[in-house]
Amino acid sequence: MQTIKNYINGELIAPIGKQYIDNYNPSNGKVYSLIPDSDERDVEIATKAALKAFTTWSITSKTERSRILMRISELISENLERLAIAESMDNGKPVALAKLVDIPRAASNFHFYATGILHYSAESHSMEDTAINYTLRSPVGVAGCISPWNLPLYLFTWKIAPALASGNCVVAKPSEITPMTAYLLSELCIEAGLPKGVLNIVHGYGHKVGAAISSHPSIPLISFTGGTKTGAEIARVAAPMFKKLSLELGGKNPNIIFADCDYEHMLKTTLNSSFSNQGQICLCGSRIFIERSMYEKFKKDFIPLVNKIKVGDPSDKDSRMGAVVSKPHMEKVLSYIELAKEEGGKVLCGGTQLKLEGELADGYYLAPTVIEELNYNCRTNQEEIFGPVVTIMPFDTEEEVLMYANSTQYGLASILWTENLTRAHRIANNLHTGIVWINCWLLRDLRTPFGGVKSSGVGREGGFEAFDFFTEPKNVCIKLK
Ligand code: NAD
Repeated sequence: MQTIKNYINGELIAPIGKQYIDNYNPSNGKVYSLIPDSDERDVEIATKAALKAFTTWSITSKTERSRILMRISELISENLERLAIAESMDNGKPVALAKLVDIPRAASNFHFYATGILHYSAESHSMEDTAINYTLRSPVGVAGCISPWNLPLYLFTWKIAPALASGNCVVAKPSEITPMTAYLLSELCIEAGLPKGVLNIVHGYGHKVGAAISSHPSIPLISFTGGTKTGAEIARVAAPMFKKLSLELGGKNPNIIFADCDYEHMLKTTLNSSFSNQGQICLCGSRIFIERSMYEKFKKDFIPLVNKIKVGDPSDKDSRMGAVVSKPHMEKVLSYIELAKEEGGKVLCGGTQLKLEGELADGYYLAPTVIEELNYNCRTNQEEIFGPVVTIMPFDTEEEVLMYANSTQYGLASILWTENLTRAHRIANNLHTGIVWINCWLLRDLRTPFGGVKSSGVGREGGFEAFDFFTEPKNVCIKLK
């Protein structure tokens, strides 16, 4: 059984308390590795190491920082197969998906920010012949980066790469549910020659390690991705300490389908936007609104396609869906399906746990589920389920569907299907979300601002916005006469 180690001051070490957490393989429900159950003492030595490294890393040239981060990116690509298998074993997702999406994106995150920092510049403001102002942008210090389990290495590196590229040192915590690829990343960082202490990875529970990071007085900025409740707790702790905060939180995204859409393209993409990664992507469209004139046709075509999705062994290349991440999460999703029934919902397909054969009999598999006949404002349609469950609802007018779409506390992403150009722009303008996909889903350009409004978050990741977050601006004003 593999024992994961913390990565502190350039070394792979055991937690000070010598305690470990069982790490489950969701595909078979068995413990397959041990995770450090670290505490505030481990965070303390990691922060000290980061503070020490900061004195050098913050003045290391951009080209040198870029070179090392590019090397990490290359090593991730060279280890694609190994990392994809590890990600799948930890998370339950199909290996094929990890190979296609998670691991290539982790390599791209490093590549993107390693090159981006070479192009990042600050502004100057001229006051004609009176004075000139210029802005200096300096790394802040030690950044705390905390990430969730659904896209483990993908989201972990999405924070770490811009933090390091802009000259900060980092104390990071991956989810205790999916720590393996972060551990493998620490080995790759050593191989790439990342100076010791620049990146420190402390494994363990959120209420211990995560809380110690967000409350640490020497960590002045926190970049967090995870649930809205956890985000609120981090904000409660960090705000009175005046820390910089970037919070990427939950979603309950609408998928709005008009009858004039490119039907086949919409159908195929809607299958993905509903059930990709077992529906465990914060950007999945979990509330599907269909123009009434097409509602019955959509149902007739969509349900058989959902029933055909192969849920199975994540290492089988034919499996479109693997296991959900954990037993408690599976139970949570099942409890929402029960709630939907209590609220008057009709389960059109799925709705149950799936028992696979042999070795995988104890895995956490759920049938992709479609529910109809629910009111837009019931709990099932308002709360984040974060599993392979979607609801479908007809609508009559644009005003009505906008009201449904904007009715939740969340505002992360929305999806819109129509061939009517003016309507597309009009609706995009009126949707209360940070991201709108028109006639597509999950098409990502890493330069664009990424994040949500309302309870889906504070701040934006992506592009130079991330560098703005991870640096502190200082205005210098020079009088000319
Ligand atoms: P979570 O909030 O339970 O955990 C996220 C991370 O926070 C984990 O590393 C956890 O250990 C840590 N944590 C827990 N309690 C903490 C505390 N008190 N202080 C500091 N850290 C703490 O979320 P999850 O269940 O891992 O992830 C699923 C959630 O993440 C969903 O709500 C999903 O929508 C959201 N998510 C959002 C985005 C986005 O970009 N907006 C992306 C992916 C996932």
